[in-house]
Amino acid sequence: MRILVQKFGGTSLATEQAREFVIRHIARERDRGYALVVVVSAMGREGDPYATDTLLKMIASNGDSLPAREKDLLLGCGEIISTAVLVSKLRSEGINASGLTGGAAGVITDSTFGSARIVEVRTEALIETLQRGDVAVVAGFQGRTENSELTTLGRGGSDTSATALGAALRAERVDIYTDVNGILTADPRIVSEAKPLTVVGYAEICNMARQGAKVIHPRAVEIAQQARIPLRVRSTFSEDEGTLVTDDRTFAGTSVRDKHVTGIAHVAGVTQISVYAREGQVDVQLQVFQSMARHGISVDFINVTPGGAVYTVFDRDAEKAVQVLEKLGYIPNAVSGCAKVSVIGGGMNGVPGIMARIVEALSEASIPILQSADSNTTIWVLVRQENMADALRALHTKFELHL
Ligand code: ADP
Ligand code: MG
Repeated sequence: MRILVQKFGGTSLATEQAREFVIRHIARERDRGYALVVVVSAMGREGDPYATDTLLKMIASNGDSLPAREKDLLLGCGEIISTAVLVSKLRSEGINASGLTGGAAGVITDSTFGSARIVEVRTEALIETLQRGDVAVVAGFQGRTENSELTTLGRGGSDTSATALGAALRAERVDIYTDVNGILTADPRIVSEAKPLTVVGYAEICNMARQGAKVIHPRAVEIAQQARIPLRVRSTFSEDEGTLVTDDRTFAGTSVRDKHVTGIAHVAGVTQISVYAREGQVDVQLQVFQSMARHGISVDFINVTPGGAVYTVFDRDAEKAVQVLEKLGYIPNAVSGCAKVSVIGGGMNGVPGIMARIVEALSEASIPILQSADSNTTIWVLVRQENMADALRALHTKFELHL
């Protein structure tokens, strides 16, 4: 059996018209002889009737009264609705299909409700479905514990469902269908000139995803990488083949890009915190980072200096972080409303002048750099959020990513 996994995101399922496109992709691959596992997200985006945030609004006025276990029962509904709707649509088009919850499809997780980790995928039910000749439609973003309790996988969960099923079934490929033409050089909602990448490696895409490119979840990419299963990210609304993610060298020549920089990503909503030792205070760095860890505040963009440290936290954690530091006797300075912009490229390693060009691009656009850091494959700059879009555009142009 040649197995293909297709995953359709929220906007791809939101309307009757969108679902027509979905059917076309399913029918085409079925006609090519693939056994199909179709993973679906909840329909639509924020505000749509069965979108995940809409489901949450139904209990918003009850405060925190719903335990994580029951909250997952609510969160899992959106994908189950999509599953049933798509099965009905497929059958009406004469395509045999069966629907499965994540649990029924064999996605077994631990019991961390709300952000469960997949511990095992039991493929028997899926194999049986495929052997019957049915398209297996599976609710993404969810699994079940050993005790058959429904769990959800956290942010980007449907991407993870798709690659985990692909890995367990040794699928030929996992296709992630979304509302853009692949993985682009930057978020097209901000940089209209952004261009789809043709072929990229797992590590680079994982890096872009971690730095904020929301088109695919990093965990999903890691799973595909470990299983060596190629991924394709492509649009539901066109026949373009989008972006192929693979480390297979035979595809290397098909990429027309020979650039030091692959893409630019961003994360908004971060606060920069600077804290310095005062008279008599020792071990400032140790105290600072231990206290952040103790309070579950995740820190990023850390620059340690002899007398202190500068780092970032999410805006939502900023107030708590400041309180914690003040309790320790420090007088921290917090700048909220910042954004981290990442310039990413496996090809920048050892190439001189990349930082110079970043500084040049931003100073030409009169954008102050609040902080910066670099690794072999990424250069990060922190800017004010109101400068973020201009910074992305300026860098995109400077590195000629539109060409
Ligand atoms: P889905 O519901 O299909 O999972 P997502 O909203 O999760 O869709 O992901 C698609 C969105 O990701 C696009 O609409 C785009 O705005 C955003 N995005 C951010 N960075 C990138 C990028 N580098 N390439 C493509 N899309 C990106
Ligand atoms: Mg998504």
